[in-house]
Amino acid sequence: MRDILFPHKEVRPIQDQLIQKVKYAIENKKHLIVHAPTGLGKTAATLPIAASYASKNGLTVFFLTPKHTQHKIAIDTLKKIKEKYNIDVKTVDLIGKKHMCLQAGVNLLSTSEFHEYCNQLVEKEECQFYNNTKEKVRKELLVDKLKRLNPLNVEETIKHSEDFKLCPFEVACVMGRSAEVIVADYYHLISPGVRNALFNKINKELKKSIIIIDESHNLPNKTRDVLTHTLSTFVIDNAIKELNIFGYTEYVEPILKIKNILETLARLIPIDELEVFIEKNNFISQIENYNKLIEDLSLIAENIKEEKKRSFVGSIANFMLAWTGPENGFCRIMKRGFNKKGKPFFSLTYRCLDPSIIMKDLINEAHSIICMSGTLTPTAMYKDLLGFEDVELAYYKNPFPKENRLSLIIPQTSTKFTLRNEKMFKEIAEKTADLVNTIKGNVFVFFPSYQLRDIISNYFAPLCNKTIFSERPNLSKKDKEDLIENFKKYKNVGAVLLGVAAGSLSEGVDLPGDFLNGVIVVGLPLAKPDLETKALINFYDDRFGKGWDYGYIYPAVLKSLQAAGRLIRSEEDKGVIAFLDERYILDNYFKCFPPDYDVKITKTPVESIKEFYS
Ligand code: SF4
Repeated sequence: MRDILFPHKEVRPIQDQLIQKVKYAIENKKHLIVHAPTGLGKTAATLPIAASYASKNGLTVFFLTPKHTQHKIAIDTLKKIKEKYNIDVKTVDLIGKKHMCLQAGVNLLSTSEFHEYCNQLVEKEECQFYNNTKEKVRKELLVDKLKRLNPLNVEETIKHSEDFKLCPFEVACVMGRSAEVIVADYYHLISPGVRNALFNKINKELKKSIIIIDESHNLPNKTRDVLTHTLSTFVIDNAIKELNIFGYTEYVEPILKIKNILETLARLIPIDELEVFIEKNNFISQIENYNKLIEDLSLIAENIKEEKKRSFVGSIANFMLAWTGPENGFCRIMKRGFNKKGKPFFSLTYRCLDPSIIMKDLINEAHSIICMSGTLTPTAMYKDLLGFEDVELAYYKNPFPKENRLSLIIPQTSTKFTLRNEKMFKEIAEKTADLVNTIKGNVFVFFPSYQLRDIISNYFAPLCNKTIFSERPNLSKKDKEDLIENFKKYKNVGAVLLGVAAGSLSEGVDLPGDFLNGVIVVGLPLAKPDLETKALINFYDDRFGKGWDYGYIYPAVLKSLQAAGRLIRSEEDKGVIAFLDERYILDNYFKCFPPDYDVKITKTPVESIKEFYS
């Protein structure tokens, strides 16, 4: 197999630099963190080289993305390689087992509930799709077919498996044993339990893996989430019902006691606050025979799951076990909240702050890890956050023509908490309307939160000359697609879509050409100054002396840049980006922009935009 299976016609010089960097890293068993803006062709510059090296050296490439929709580009790249070189890179596209499952109704289950449900069905031989995998002929017929059609995306694998009435995940795992490239979700490798189970099943080892992590600016939060556990009074109430229904009434009392403990701990929350830090022993010391109770609840949960897909009793046992974990790199928070009916509830969270805890095994054992993203600056911060020591860092400039993009900072308003008042909201609405009305065609406006978006849009709507769309929180995939399709129809007359930075439209949405002509980022999407944020700032202060930068400022500017990045997705795209907040010009925030961002500070943005169009 050739060294560089570049899938496109020509390698651009900047792409060639990236290819050489990746090649060097892989050949020398090194890790690489690379800031590679959109348009550089980072998948084409990394995956083929890794695949070629893996194939020659008995390794496997894991190409990981945070979202399943982002698998497509990897599979398309491998399809192009096949077309161009007639080389069949043995590939498997994997998503969460739950999303590949052919059983009805599994989408209602949480991930952990689903796994337990699936295990139960398999153990009791009640899943016909799994049982069929034991029919050698049927399985081999399908595997042969999939090998002939290789590379296939996961939807195609599911479809063919359904035709053969075989479990798609099991079939993908059979294919995975001989795969040279496995396209998967972050979770498949960053969750130690999931990784070990998967590796056992497909016969792979970390030390023989090249791991490419796409969009890796998401990695710190995703890894923290893996080790974070929460127990709420909602879960406890449901566990009590479960114990009564299944006849384990003698355990109702200890669970009620846990509820009482949560309610007592909640009294430590200051009257005008919603949360308080809690010590490990505040919880453990009040429960008799703590470890024995975990064991008993785990056993009860096993029995409950014989009849029911989900067990709240099991959730309590899992939380109690996690709560015994270490202090360093974690915080423990008691929270008070209110449900939709205004009824109070309490929750206790064991929150991971340190992504390097999860990354350690991957970094120490994998052949090479390539972390890449279009917003991975400063790369040295990601080295620190993820816990790399010996790692290559690379930075590439935006490859698109500078004249295609006008980037402005407009330092006349602010969404800073202390400056929020009606006058400020009106001013923001006026400035935003001026920009939206001046930018030709479709415009996205991103706000720091839905609440602020709704307040400001009341003032904005009467001033706006374009049709207004609004993003709802937690849009389903289908609703999001419908919203975008409707919005696109307005490309000739122009419409405005009001969304939220770090909402469902600020990442993974591509509106090429005239479908999007401007992005306005209103304010700074800073994290809530809650205890978790404070703990994160303290943690990074202690470890690197950079608490505010790593725990607060960079993540906010990153969200703004991600949102702004929706505008220019190809060489032909043209348009205006505006950051509307006076804090963007402060050194602490301005330094977070990539060095080649070429952003202009102006108090006369309308004139600047007219000039850009002239
Ligand atoms: S074995 Fe496969 S089809 Fe059966 S429940 Fe599990 S994932 Fe679903």
